[in-house]
Amino acid sequence: MTIAVRVEDKLFQNRYLVDAGRPHITVAVHEKPSANLMALTTICPAKCYELNEKGQVDVTPDGCMECGTCRVLCEASGEITWNYPRGGYGVLYKFG
Ligand code: SF4
Repeated sequence: MTIAVRVEDKLFQNRYLVDAGRPHITVAVHEKPSANLMALTTICPAKCYELNEKGQVDVTPDGCMECGTCRVLCEASGEITWNYPRGGYGVLYKFG
């Protein structure tokens, strides 16, 4: 018998401690998002990026898995700033 486990179910095992008021990722002020910024709304596995009502990309890093995808795509261009959360904050992986 095969038991199917979805990725989302496994990710739900993780815990995240929010560092209130100190987001470890920020998006630079922009009028219209670049193609790379827009891409973050679909490629972030934690769905941290989304469009606001003005059509700009916002980030809510709660739940960020620190995979670095957004960092690779948008940090060098200055479109985002990315740091690891302070010690004790951020994702806590659980396996099993
Ligand atoms: Fe999403 Fe990964 Fe960037 Fe975190 S590091 S916001 S999980 S793309």
